[in-house]
Amino acid sequence: MIDQLAEIKARALKDLAAADDAEATEAWRVAYLGKKGQLTTVLRQLGALPPAERPLVGQKANEVKVALELALAARLEVERRVALRRAAEAERVDVTLPGRQPSLGQVHPTTRVLKEVLDSFAAMGFQVAEGPDVEWDYYNFEALNIPKDHPARDMWDTFYVQSKGRPGEILLRTHTSPNQVRVMEKVRPPVRVVVPGRVYRYEATDATHESEFFQVEGLAVDKNVTMADLKGVLSAFAREMFGAERKVRFRCDYFPFVEPGVEMAISCFQCGGVGCRLCGNGWLEIMGAGMVHPKVLAGVGYDPSVYSGFAFGIGVERIAILKYGIDDIRLFYANDLRFLRQFK
Ligand SMILES: [Zn+2]
Repeated sequence: MIDQLAEIKARALKDLAAADDAEATEAWRVAYLGKKGQLTTVLRQLGALPPAERPLVGQKANEVKVALELALAARLEVERRVALRRAAEAERVDVTLPGRQPSLGQVHPTTRVLKEVLDSFAAMGFQVAEGPDVEWDYYNFEALNIPKDHPARDMWDTFYVQSKGRPGEILLRTHTSPNQVRVMEKVRPPVRVVVPGRVYRYEATDATHESEFFQVEGLAVDKNVTMADLKGVLSAFAREMFGAERKVRFRCDYFPFVEPGVEMAISCFQCGGVGCRLCGNGWLEIMGAGMVHPKVLAGVGYDPSVYSGFAFGIGVERIAILKYGIDDIRLFYANDLRFLRQFK
């Protein structure tokens, strides 16, 4: 029996050395140390031996069992390390791989042009101010020389806000011009401000009309401000935005809160002024402007015989449409990423 044990031990150690994965090791354990394993079977036969032989054989059997268990433990430890190393390999980060591109947003074309417009005027000493979108009728119309019965109100139909006071007293501003009055009520001349903001119109939308868009209002008031100042400042702006070689054209136009009023156009930057699909006749209208009406000045307590000024209103999308050749104003607010992604 002792020979048998020695033979089992030798074979077992050889088999274990040959087991090359966890499955084979487990099969080995079952084959030798399991309930029906070869060593266990021998141990069960101990009882049948003559009592004198039992201690020696028992001791030998125990030695073999301990030896096999130690060999198994060592083997399992090796397997555990191999498994750990494999797991570490699998999780290893390859720092040489290119990174994942984060999904970055970009500036909306309206915002981009708005910033350019404001930067251009800031460089000429204009401060930026802001005013409310929801406005009193007084600021939107009356203080701008557009009384209730004035036909010019038809040019600026808007959305009215229900209020406890007189109906129609509160509305969504139709232009940023109310801020001329709001600014002048707060400060004394000299005034030089630009006021960006969203404006609203009750309007059927089409390729050239939206019910909501951005304007930049401009206002300069001081002693001896003349039409020459208006032309100088706005020409400088146009050349900054559309190129140094732009020609400018001022023609009479009508806005109730200026006198005289002008419509400003620039020579087309696409055809150089000879006429093309963008401009038609070589000129692109870019804004309305004029000398602040004496009634508006008097309304805020500025003496029109001492002070004068000019004001202008720029449609921000209008500038973007010209600059980028966009053919439908509705694209600005349609949230179509294919459109927006073009403005890198
Ligand atoms: Zn042209």
